[in-house]
Amino acid sequence: MHVDLSNRTAIVTGASSGIGRGIALALADAGARVVVADLEETPPSDADRTTAERVDDLGGTAAFVECDVTDDDAVAALVDATVERFGGLDILVNNAGISHAGTVEETTPEEWHRVLDVNLTGVYHGARHAMPYLKESDAPRIVNVASQLAFVAQPEKPAYLASKGGVVSLTRSLAVDYADVPVLVNAVCPGVVETELTRDSLADPERRAEFERQTLLPYLGQPEDVGAMAAFLASDHARFVTGQSFVVDGGYTAQ
Ligand code: NAD
Repeated sequence: MHVDLSNRTAIVTGASSGIGRGIALALADAGARVVVADLEETPPSDADRTTAERVDDLGGTAAFVECDVTDDDAVAALVDATVERFGGLDILVNNAGISHAGTVEETTPEEWHRVLDVNLTGVYHGARHAMPYLKESDAPRIVNVASQLAFVAQPEKPAYLASKGGVVSLTRSLAVDYADVPVLVNAVCPGVVETELTRDSLADPERRAEFERQTLLPYLGQPEDVGAMAAFLASDHARFVTGQSFVVDGGYTAQ
């Protein structure tokens, strides 16, 4: 099966690092033009090239747009800049996300709102501004990045779990409302993937061993594992798939 996204334009939020970068590279590898949207373009400490430079290395086309997904006007400007530069929009990947640890008592209202604003409201902003352009596309797609923690709990992550459960429900809602176009809307739910987000936890040998025990396969996830699923969902191969959430977790939720 060959995934072909040539002549498609994609926005990937939170694509300067981690899973977003993996998704941006997978889409570019399949031929899509990619707009990397993030707070800053600077690559993570373990990478010496930005995502757009890595796309260039693949022979693809990419542009960086600074955007905070919690800012409705900034997301509108991101979509407008994409359409102005590339003439349209076919794929929106809402990936930007943050985490927060602490029980409800330890979570301040500011921390709670910040997690919900980035992880859930950011998806609403993206969908809201992209939809008018997606409706003009021949093969419009939204791929939301949720988490396996939409389905199983980990201790002391109430805001994160609530936000990701919300993303799974919002995915279904969007799929239902735009099925007549059709805009296909699905979610990818990663398990433990080695990124900046999990760097501190995975640097702790005890926690790493616990994550490795919880993941059935004898290795943790890499950003490209999520990228492959996102590229499939963005492609014509997924034309009969909408409103679903696909867990990519090495078996974490199977036991
Ligand atoms: P990461 O920290 O490596 O990358 C997140 C990116 O989002 C960063 O580049 C960051 O700058 C960007 N970002 C944060 N707030 C933003 C904002 N307000 N506006 C725009 N960009 C913003 O983390 P990651 O692990 O790659 O996470 C990506 C997504 O995958 C998140 O939604 C996360 O919840 C989800 N996820 C990650 C894991 C994992 O194990 N790494 C597991 C399940 C789900």
